[in-house]
Amino acid sequence: MKNQKEMRTWLDDMNLDHPLVVAGPCSAETEEQVLKIAHELKDTDVNYFRAGIWKPRTRPGMFEGVGALGLKWLQKVKEETGMKTATEVANAAHVKLALEHDIDLLWIGARSTVSPFIVQEIADALDGTDKIVLVKNPVNPDLALWLGGVERLYTANIKNLGVIHRGFSTYEKTKYRNIPEWQLAIELQNKFPDLPLICDPSHITGKRDMILDVSQTALDLNFDGLMIETHFDPENAWSDAAQQVTPAALVQIMNDLKIRKESSKEAAYNNELNLLRAQIDVIDNSLIEALGKRMKVSDGIGKLKKTGNVSVLQTSRWNEILGKMILEGEQKGLSEEFVLRMFKAIHQESINHQEKILKN
Ligand code: PEP
Ligand code: MN
Repeated sequence: MKNQKEMRTWLDDMNLDHPLVVAGPCSAETEEQVLKIAHELKDTDVNYFRAGIWKPRTRPGMFEGVGALGLKWLQKVKEETGMKTATEVANAAHVKLALEHDIDLLWIGARSTVSPFIVQEIADALDGTDKIVLVKNPVNPDLALWLGGVERLYTANIKNLGVIHRGFSTYEKTKYRNIPEWQLAIELQNKFPDLPLICDPSHITGKRDMILDVSQTALDLNFDGLMIETHFDPENAWSDAAQQVTPAALVQIMNDLKIRKESSKEAAYNNELNLLRAQIDVIDNSLIEALGKRMKVSDGIGKLKKTGNVSVLQTSRWNEILGKMILEGEQKGLSEEFVLRMFKAIHQESINHQEKILKN
């Protein structure tokens, strides 16, 4: 994927003065439902009207979508409101039908991205299309698999591309339906800064009252847009009832969001920022310096242990260090979780150093 710039042409060409917004119900339920929501969203910032036509449900027996019939309703949305349309495709047959019904934006769902076979089938069916195609992250936090999906599409001459971050499933119960693991999205942005990145706070949170907060975090991390499930009667939606918001709530969310610029031309701001960044650089350098010194001392301990024929790991000593550092960290405003993670990494590096010496 060399020329990423061409991937975002579709977004740049829209010349938006706000983040891209994709909104509409989780599922198309009836023609009336689809059209009612679309009309309520017509004069808002919404750029694409979404509705799931084929629903990938975790267990059988739940509402699995209305199927191809719903595509006609989406065509009506376009005719009546002028809004562009978006839906999920999960196989070649879906792609064929979606293209026949002139859907403008297709996305690959999280359960499909995990399967290279499925993604390849979709890529082949879409070969050369000028429609917009977005790849949701796979359900598991695997950046390579996510990017592999984008690569398959790019190789099939699909150039209007982007990704949707919808969080990752976990065994443990958390406050999220799918934990965001923002670090992954940041890594993706670093690798592919020109790949449009959209956040789906609905599937990350699973709860409508958390959507504003997660959307704000996404915008603070320079995401290009949001996909938010919207229904006029969320409680009675046929799928994902707890996370959908009303069109009025969506407008409120868009108003409440603080849209920050990626940079500012203002001189005072830039001077202040440069000053602070210079301080950070100095501190970062001294961190590396201190860590280097620590490892040198650790090497010395390794040599001593080798002569004394003592094992590398002394659990009691390690626990003592950890306890002390957590307390120290607390006084400096560092969370226990951070101090633990940092010292585990430092300790691992020490062990590696000492192991090397003992084995030599
Ligand atoms: C959806 O957007 O309706 C959907 C099913 O999402 P995901 O693939 O992220 O679970
Ligand atoms: Mn949904």
